[in-house]
Amino acid sequence: MGEETVDVAIIGGGPAGITAALYAKRKALSVKLFESKAVGGQTADAIWVENYPGVKKIRGMELMQKMAEHLKEFGVEPEEAAEVTGVKKNGELFELDIEDGEEKLLAKSIIICTGSKYKELGVPGEKELYGKGVSYCATCDGPGFKDKIVAVVGAGNSGANAALFFAGICKKVYLIEFGEKPVFESVYAQPIKAESKIEVMINTQTVGIDGREKVNGIKVKNRKSGEEKVLAVDGIFVYIGSVPQNKIAKQLGLKLDEKGFVTVNKGNAASVKGVFAAGDITGELAQTIVAAGSGAIAATSIFEFVKGLK
Ligand SMILES: Cc1cc2nc3c(=O)[nH]c(=O)nc-3n(C[C@H](O)[C@H](O)[C@H](O)COP(=O)(O)OP(=O)(O)OC[C@H]3O[C@@H](n4cnc5c(N)ncnc54)[C@H](O)[C@@H]3O)c2cc1C
Repeated sequence: MGEETVDVAIIGGGPAGITAALYAKRKALSVKLFESKAVGGQTADAIWVENYPGVKKIRGMELMQKMAEHLKEFGVEPEEAAEVTGVKKNGELFELDIEDGEEKLLAKSIIICTGSKYKELGVPGEKELYGKGVSYCATCDGPGFKDKIVAVVGAGNSGANAALFFAGICKKVYLIEFGEKPVFESVYAQPIKAESKIEVMINTQTVGIDGREKVNGIKVKNRKSGEEKVLAVDGIFVYIGSVPQNKIAKQLGLKLDEKGFVTVNKGNAASVKGVFAAGDITGELAQTIVAAGSGAIAATSIFEFVKGLK
């Protein structure tokens, strides 16, 4: 067991974790940041980010490299390829197990910034055309589809929300639902019905995405009749759910919502004393700026916690 005890251990090196580390370090707390892969999180997968204020257009990878460099300037060297495989209480402290016992650490508090993962359709063309018309985020990539035709796959709340957004800027929107009926809440029913540009297709499975340089169509199959057809679209936005990376949260017995996201209060404190959470893992709007903002809030709350002010 290593001797080291830090004020705060941060789990996850996406925008939430990096910002939390930066804020904690600037408050003169001792900080360790663990990232199971390379720092950057999901934002590093974004081909372009066009909605981070102050940076008009930047590759996701570059934005995250800039954030990581900024963090290093303040003296935090993130530990990469260092998955936190276990966390348990040890008296008043938390005991972290990194890479199944390769390293151990004691911390007065922790911030869980482990993010979420969007679900993919798993159909031909999806990976090849990602960033060329295939997207998982209308807020991120949607504005580039003005006057085009798009398909939104998944008629839950997020899909309905995206379809309504596209109805305001696109020529036509297909809202495609695998099941017998849309699963969005009733509040969406009337606005969707009233929008002539939205065509809702139920019992419909997306089986392929066509295009070479960019998407030009999707293959869909009617699950009742078995009939297949191609819809000419310029973009496909997949909203079939995202999965919170909540393994550590579960180990700690944190209160989760019905979808498995960590429940936090206004200061981003979770239900176990000394544990905080920030970013996508809390189920908030999945955006880089929001994740960064909540990382800042969590680190500020931790300062008060560590200093015994709260
Ligand atoms: C393809 C794509 C494009 C996007 N484009 C945009 C955009 O243009 N604009 C925008 O605002 N938002 C965009 N988003 C959303 C944005 O990227 C996320 O909201 C944001 O990254 C969430 O940040 P986070 O720090 O909460 O989590 P994440 O970015 O998910 O980071 C979590 C990190 O935790 C690590 N981790 C998980 N478990 C452990 C563990 N046990 N130990 C150590 N490390 C662990 C993961 O490896 C990951 O790096 C996009 C998302 C995707 C997927």
